[in-house]
Amino acid sequence: MSRRVLITGGAGFIGSHTCIVLLEAGYDLLVLDNFSNSSPEALARVASLADVPLDGQQLQIKRGDIRDPITLDELFSAAAASGRPFEAVIHFAGLKAVGESVEKPLFYWDVNVAGSRTLLAAMDAHACRTLVFSSSATVYGYPETVPILESAPIQPINPYGFSKAAVEQMLADLNSGTPNTWRIASLRYFNPVGAHPSGQIGEDPLGIPNNLFPFVSQVAVGRRAQLRVFGSDWPTHDGTGVRDYVHVMDLAEGHKAALETLLSQGPQHLTCNLGSGDGASVLDVVNAFSAASGQGIPYALVDRRPGDAAVTIADPSRAADILQWRTKRTLTDICRDGWAWQRANPMGYRQSE
Ligand code: NAD
Ligand code: UDP
Repeated sequence: MSRRVLITGGAGFIGSHTCIVLLEAGYDLLVLDNFSNSSPEALARVASLADVPLDGQQLQIKRGDIRDPITLDELFSAAAASGRPFEAVIHFAGLKAVGESVEKPLFYWDVNVAGSRTLLAAMDAHACRTLVFSSSATVYGYPETVPILESAPIQPINPYGFSKAAVEQMLADLNSGTPNTWRIASLRYFNPVGAHPSGQIGEDPLGIPNNLFPFVSQVAVGRRAQLRVFGSDWPTHDGTGVRDYVHVMDLAEGHKAALETLLSQGPQHLTCNLGSGDGASVLDVVNAFSAASGQGIPYALVDRRPGDAAVTIADPSRAADILQWRTKRTLTDICRDGWAWQRANPMGYRQSE
């Protein structure tokens, strides 16, 4: 019988790609999502790409909120009563916009921290104690050394980063307070980008994108006039900021690797960077995307964005050692697949709703 996994936030960018990888590996999934930052259409496309029925046994869908203990209790109870309990949870549901987190800190503490606490309490009550958690490289704040090891100081610089660090701390407390009980992986993603190679699912930000990749894609497709490059005087090879961009399909495979590591090993709390170990500057991204799309990407060099670091690059060796996972896809692959998604869906999922 297939292993069954609860995926919170599974309709979102990283969740939808992870669902495909897990469905193709034979897992049965239940996606819990309130669709506050995603579209049900993403799951319809996941079902079609993975060749499973929509809302059937392999991919069930529940609209609901991780902060609602009744919804969670009903889900876990129904799963147990059906004889197909959840063996694990992959917890993507959360908020991720740094600027919004500064403006609405209570909202971020509520969804990201209180929501995770509510989920953990339900998991504990139903004896489902295997969790893969979406953390972020943002917990490192301004890194003191690059590439960044997991042992680097945790020093967030905004409410979003604090909310992720708080959940990691909650998980560490749970692991030390109830030893030999929980199997937990906190995955610190670097910069997730790209799309499924089919071009059918991808990142679909609401409004004007804050992040580089969706902005560049929207300039390439003609939705935005030009990119503003935040800072050309950083201490980097071309003066623009350097990041560790990870193809979302590599990231999706990283979740499968983490899940299988936890299911095959004993209780533990693992913390792993998910990054490539390579850095690309803003202008490297502009040039690679322009080459992949055949489109010019007009840009203007402007002042630095407050809160930015010059360089953020993962040391990915722990994930390689423990999860047997490393990135396989290049910046060229990222741009090709990101462009396939953007070109086929210039308005994201909305055009097909
Ligand atoms: P996303 O916004 O595309 O996906 C999050 C999903 O969670 C969405 O489908 C949203 O509707 C859902 N959701 C939000 N609040 C919910 C709630 N209260 N109850 C139920 N569902 C809810 O984001 P993503 O890029 O796929 O990120 C997934 C996770 O990874 C998030 O926790 C995010 O903080 C983390 N993360 C993302 C990045 C990134 O750059 N994308 C980097 C590091 C960490
Ligand atoms: N960036 C930029 N213009 C934009 C958005 C981002 O020049 O419109 C730069 C940003 O300053 C950083 C890099 O692109 O150097 C990646 O930014 P993003 O917001 O995607 O990721 P993060 O800074 O959160 O790692």
